[in-house]
Amino acid sequence: MKILSDIEIAQATEKNHIKNIAEKLNIVEDDLEMYGKYKAKLPLYLIDEDKVNKNNLILVTALTPTPAGEGKTTVSIGLTEGLNIIGKQATVVLREPSLGPVFGIKGGAAGGGYSQVVPMEDINLHFTGDFNAIEKANNLLAALIDNNLQSKVNNLNIDPRTIGWKRVIDMNDRSLRQITIGLGGTANGIPREDGFNITAASEIMAILCMAEGRDDLKERIGNIFVGFTFDKKPIFARDLKAENAMAILLKDAIKPNLVQTLEKNPAIIHGGPFANIAQGTNSIIATKMGLSLSNYVITEAGFGADLGAEKFLNIKCAAAGLNPKCVVLVATIRALRHHGGSPSHEYNTPSVERVEAGFVNLEKHIENIRKFNIEPVVAINSFVSDTNDEVELIKRKCDALGVHAVVSNGWAEGGNGTIDLAKAVVDIVENKAAEFKPLYNWKSPVKEKIEKIAKEIYGADGVDYDNKANLNLRRIEKLGFNDFPICMAKTQKSFSDNDKLIGRPEGFRITVREIEIAAGAKFLIPILGKMMRMPGLPSKPASEEMFIDDNGKISGLS
Ligand code: ADP
Ligand code: MG
Repeated sequence: MKILSDIEIAQATEKNHIKNIAEKLNIVEDDLEMYGKYKAKLPLYLIDEDKVNKNNLILVTALTPTPAGEGKTTVSIGLTEGLNIIGKQATVVLREPSLGPVFGIKGGAAGGGYSQVVPMEDINLHFTGDFNAIEKANNLLAALIDNNLQSKVNNLNIDPRTIGWKRVIDMNDRSLRQITIGLGGTANGIPREDGFNITAASEIMAILCMAEGRDDLKERIGNIFVGFTFDKKPIFARDLKAENAMAILLKDAIKPNLVQTLEKNPAIIHGGPFANIAQGTNSIIATKMGLSLSNYVITEAGFGADLGAEKFLNIKCAAAGLNPKCVVLVATIRALRHHGGSPSHEYNTPSVERVEAGFVNLEKHIENIRKFNIEPVVAINSFVSDTNDEVELIKRKCDALGVHAVVSNGWAEGGNGTIDLAKAVVDIVENKAAEFKPLYNWKSPVKEKIEKIAKEIYGADGVDYDNKANLNLRRIEKLGFNDFPICMAKTQKSFSDNDKLIGRPEGFRITVREIEIAAGAKFLIPILGKMMRMPGLPSKPASEEMFIDDNGKISGLS
């Protein structure tokens, strides 16, 4: 039997009109802002804080992943189908894909196999234009800054060498990482070094995903730290009177998008910050919208649990007062083989020994989730190359830790393949859920917060600070930003800051090279090692396989 590609499966599935999906959430047609037949924006007045507190939030995260991704989105969608089959009203709430990875190495991010959200072409491409709006808002501030350098009226005396605000575009384009702008004489601006980040790595994206409403959005934008004047005074976006115009550009982007799963259950997709340098999860507004409309909300946080879940819990849940009831840890046999020493060309080669050796990685993630007073469930995302012996080994080892490990077969079977997982999650929610507690107090000193994450979550012996980081710490103190939570910028490939240390590394220290201030998003970003904010395309980009016919039908999209 030919295995259909994601897009073939998505295109072969009949979709319901979005008003019928909204009906399942008791939303009347008049409240929908439709973008064609299958997409709609949801107005913010549908958020109901009482329901947010009452309904059940489930986080899907993963062990330390291989570069292909271990299937968090796929499991999130599959689990939502499974919960609906067993009679729970569930909605999946996800991030919007970025065009960079779509055309680069990773392909789309709308799930896979029989666990997808649709229309997948739209979701993976321009969707409802949110990324474009974010890009424009970001670039308006950049233009205002450069205009102020040039302007004789209201000149803020900004030292161009201190400007940290970059332009953004939603594309993998490494040649824009470092550029020179303002060339061509006095009419064309002040020459200075600049550069582009990818839109998903922008502070505006982080802000949109942390904002609780329009006023909060505006205030956060106004708080964006731009740089210093020549006499060392800090300049913020509000000094350029930028916040209203930028919030106007985001007037629709702030509203969550409603679409559907292949089994016609509701899916809310909104915001898309990267997880290695930002918080890596959909917007607070979207999560609260889901919880206002639905008894179970399944959501995902990027990369492994050391990054995604840690930030989701310590930053997002703490900021928004959310109380997640259960964490699903996605594990794959291939990633366990990897952590047990398999080279990449042997990821699909069965090996009980390697899986056993690699289990230490999953074990550490299990221990970490429990530090937040949350019980995890392990979802073994089933691949055709898995063997029974390997799966049984994982189940046994999890059992010894008192953790329920369940095979999740949503990729091959949709909701029918995740019923066991759905039941395991409901069991935790109904019988074992406790009050979630964050790992650290936001008000602790910055170094203490960083050390807590490094020691408790990564398993490091300690933290070293480069000179630049120490200078940054003094600036943070002076500007009064000590109480912000920590948004670690770290490789997703290891618990440590060294890509090469797989499994469960021990006896290592981490090095903080610098600490960036995201004053609008309201977090501090310690940078461990070189972080990619503008990825490049691979030598054979995914775009080469894509095709569109004369009727507008697309193929080859992941
Ligand atoms: P993540 O959200 O963790 O990055 P995704 O759910 O996006 O991972 O999955 C990554 C890729 O792996 C996708 O292309 C998806 O179609 C594929 N995939 C996920 N689960 C399976 C599976 N069980 N079998 C085969 N391919 C899968
Ligand atoms: Mg994903």
